Amino acid sequence: MTDDRAIILKADELPDKWYNIIPDLPEPLPPPMDPPEGYSRIGDLPNLLVGECLKQEMSAERWIPIPEGIQELYLAAGRPRALFRAKNLEKKLGTPAKLFYKSEFYSPTGSHKVNTALAQAYYAKEQGFERLTTETGAGQWGNALAYASSLVGLDCTVFWVRAVYRWKPHRLNFMQMFGAEVYASPSQQTEFGKKLYAENPDHNGSLGIAISEGLEDAKKDPKAVYCLGSVLNHVMLHQSIIGLETKKQMEIAGEYPDVVISCLGGGSNFGGIALPWMQDVLKKKADIQFIAAQSEAAANLQGEYKYDFADHAEMTPMLKMCTLGHQVTMVPILGDGLRYHGSSPILSLLRHLGYIDTIAYPTDEVHIFQRAKEFVQAEGFLPAPESAYSVACAIDEAIKCKENNEKKTILFNISGHGFLDMDGYAEKLGLKKQPERA
Ligand SMILES: *Cc1c(COP(=O)(O)O)cnc(C)c1O
Repeated sequence: MTDDRAIILKADELPDKWYNIIPDLPEPLPPPMDPPEGYSRIGDLPNLLVGECLKQEMSAERWIPIPEGIQELYLAAGRPRALFRAKNLEKKLGTPAKLFYKSEFYSPTGSHKVNTALAQAYYAKEQGFERLTTETGAGQWGNALAYASSLVGLDCTVFWVRAVYRWKPHRLNFMQMFGAEVYASPSQQTEFGKKLYAENPDHNGSLGIAISEGLEDAKKDPKAVYCLGSVLNHVMLHQSIIGLETKKQMEIAGEYPDVVISCLGGGSNFGGIALPWMQDVLKKKADIQFIAAQSEAAANLQGEYKYDFADHAEMTPMLKMCTLGHQVTMVPILGDGLRYHGSSPILSLLRHLGYIDTIAYPTDEVHIFQRAKEFVQAEGFLPAPESAYSVACAIDEAIKCKENNEKKTILFNISGHGFLDMDGYAEKLGLKKQPERA
């Protein structure tokens, strides 16, 4: 049967190289810097990050081979993932636009984060480490790393922003099933955490604080290494698998996107789907509009483009990025994975040069969850709250096409599923517990 409703690649069509956009950028990427005072954070990096990841972080090679061991892990995680044409949704909206979406929701733990978690865990194991430490906000990254650790045979410690730790008990149980040690952050496991915990044991925490805790924990233990789930260049690299598969799939469908959309927190899923297409824009002068869907709670791409720390305690080097300030407080939202103060240096530069548009949705999130409901009713897949921003933006664009009678091809990424986020959906959509009906 030939149809472009679902475009499915075979195992032997899995890309065997990641795409590194750094050599194709219109300007050199500003390197990380040490702050004017204090110890050298850059000098500290080899003690903190996996060696191969650090090498990739600074690589100028355009194509980086994916080791066979990681290709196998990708296959085990269900890659390549399908690309769907949202025909039901198109019909329901009455739009002349064509809508395509990539299905990162088929991930074992529920998000695209496994694409870099598997790579980082694989390289850490190769280097002889025994334990991975990390932070998590929404819980998807901690869960992905717990899964990857379990597959390659490593221990895993997760510092989880307390406010979210308390509201997602099933996500916690899922991490525990992989054998991970999970702490609410600020925790009593690190000096930095202890200080904040003593001031307030109910401290809500933040991603910046949890990163500081993960870094400190790894620094104290020579058998442990820290992993970061977004923002950094090597994470963008690993996530390019999303866009590389999608390019093959769009070619099979005989289509080319006019618009590429995804949600953006630190930038890894947006970069993953967008950067392989960005190469066409930079090289072949293809004309594609890129839209990052964000929350007004953390519209980091609309922040200042400057050097800033990636964590609250200033343990990381300074990165040139679009930032709201590393100690800013951000209002809580259900799409918690989008709540980070800064954006990937690569995407920040491209934004600064005018290649990426951004839209920030109100923090009440009503519009986002309404749109996700429309999507579910037409297509059936339940997006993660973060991914719902991508869905909402794509629907908004499709409606504009209807109003202007434009036949655009819109490609969007659905970074994860929302099966463990039903409480959030129930709250926003007013879904009631009902008395038993028989
Ligand atoms: C972490 C996460 C995000 C936001 O992070 P990015 O690095 O910007 O992709 C978005 N969607 C899901 C499902 C996530 O888990």
